[in-house]
Order: sequence, then structure tokens, then C-alpha cells
Amino acid sequence: MWKVTNEKNKRYLNEFRKKLIDPFMKEILNYKLKENKFLLFSNYLNSNEFIFDDSKELLKVVISIKKDGKKIENYIEELKKKDLLYLINQYNIYQKQTKSLDDMNYNIVFEYVDEIYKTIFSRFFYQTFFTDKRIWHEINSQFSNYNRLEFHHNFKKENDMSICPYCDIDTITSDGNVIIEHYMPKDKYPFLAMHPNNLISACYGCNGSHGKSIDYYIPITSPFKKQIGDEIIFDLDNTNKKVILRSTCNEEIDNYIKMLKLKEKYESESVFNILNNKSKQIFRLCWNFENMCNERIDEILFEDYLLFKKEPLTFATKSVYRDIVYYENYKRSLSK
Ligand SMILES: [Zn+2]
Repeated sequence: MWKVTNEKNKRYLNEFRKKLIDPFMKEILNYKLKENKFLLFSNYLNSNEFIFDDSKELLKVVISIKKDGKKIENYIEELKKKDLLYLINQYNIYQKQTKSLDDMNYNIVFEYVDEIYKTIFSRFFYQTFFTDKRIWHEINSQFSNYNRLEFHHNFKKENDMSICPYCDIDTITSDGNVIIEHYMPKDKYPFLAMHPNNLISACYGCNGSHGKSIDYYIPITSPFKKQIGDEIIFDLDNTNKKVILRSTCNEEIDNYIKMLKLKEKYESESVFNILNNKSKQIFRLCWNFENMCNERIDEILFEDYLLFKKEPLTFATKSVYRDIVYYENYKRSLSK
């Protein structure tokens, strides 16, 4: 729900796309077109029919790397057996989805992506190549040390935050978890598995299928587009000791809440207790300042106290305790 950027990582990932993914996708089509001429992709790669000369050495490294006992070249040969029109159609899906995410349009309708492409993008590009020094070195000799850990460092530093931008409940301070969260699930949108506008550092509770719905809902917005936390309303249910989430009748926000299972996450009693303790600190401040602020909760006090501290539950605290009713209740409880 925090708005975030990913500019530093974009420099690496865009280069990955320019030198590796784009040439790879186009060369597979060209290889298919010349299928009678070459027996294997490696023959084609060594010939002068190969288009992307600058990526030649990189693709030689690429096809030599094994994952689960199989080289990526084996998968390329399997792709060659498919129909040309089918491959062109898959290529068009890749281009269309990539372009859409370049433009920050997250409303991408699901389209079937072949299992082979899924394996290449997910198991090779994301899981294996992301942490392979040889690959990054070939892309740019200055990028040799880039990996998933570095991604998290860049992301946290750039956004000056250690809280999960999805839920605003847990922290992302630990370096132990080097899994990068895919906003649009890579199982459904494998072509976007390396897109910088799709990769985010999230807490363990929000990462992957255990913390997120396996479905992707449209229309939707994203933390790369707006500060979603400002558009969610939080209520305290004192009887049941729960924090209740409401949206502002905006379908994009509702789908975000649904996908990240935020209602369930905020219903935990520990979230309620943290929020309750925060209220006491804030109201104590308000109480001290009350004469000065002419019997109203000074908005500035709230803003100073809450904003940009980037503590967990900032949005819930802002939403709940801006409500004068809670403060009046607090004062009544003091006078008892
Ligand atoms: Zn989270």
C-alpha cells in the first residue's frame, strides 16, 4: 500500500531484457523460419544468419546452462517442433504484455503461455540466471555482482523503507529471504517474470501463494502506481478485537485487498493490539496539546507523529485515529 519505485533495479533488468530476452525471443522465431537449414540451435547461433551479433556470446553462455538436468537448448529444440503461427502468436503475447507493463497498465487479461516458455522464463531466466555471475557479466561487465540480494538492497535503499509495501504490517528487514515477489504471478504471466514493474520486496507473509491469492483480479492498481494505503479505510471493532478494512468503493482497490488477502491479515488480534497501543501514544500527545489546539485534534500533530516515519500500520493508524470519535472515547475513559 506504500507507493514505491524501482529505478535502480530497472537499469539492470532493462539491460537483461535488451541483451537477452528480446534477442532470444526473436532469434527463436528466425531459427524456426530457417528450420530446414539448421539441425540445432547451436548451429544457427554460430552461423551468419544469426541477427543479434551483440548478444551472440551471451546466448552461447545461455544455451550451455543446465537446470534440473536439462539445458535451455533442449527446450529451444522442443519449441522448434511447434507450429510457426503458434510461435508468432506467443511472441505477440510477450510483446503486448511487456509493453503494457512498461506503460504501468496492470490490467492485463490472462492469455495462455506455452509450458516451454513458462519454464524458460520462470526456471531459467528468473530462478537461475538472476543469480548467475556469468550471465550478468556477459550482459555488462560492471553488473557481475548483481543478484537477488542486491535487488532487495537497491529496492529498500531507494524507497527508504523496511516495511512491506503490500500489507504495511510486517517488516522486510531480513536479508534471509531472497525470493522476489511477483506482483502479477509468474505462473500466470511468465513473460513478465523479469519485468522491473512486476518485481517487489515483500514480507514473508505476503510473498507467493501462501500470502496471496493464486488468482489475479482485474481491474487492479499497483504500489508502483499509487499510495494505495491512503485509499483504504480502517475501522476498529473493539468488541471482537479486530481491524476491519473497507475500500472507498473503488474496484481497483478492492481487488488489491482481495488479491493480497488484506482483510484476513488485519483481522488478527495482534494487529488490533498494536493499533490500540499506538492510539494511546497519540492520544496522550493530543491530550497534552489540547488547550493549545483549541479542543480539536490538531491535524499537524497527527501528520508529524504519523507520516513518513514508515512504521508498520501507518495507514491503519492514520485512518482510525483521525476519527474524532475514538479520541472522545479516550477522553471519557480517562475521566472515569
Ligand atoms: Zn506484507
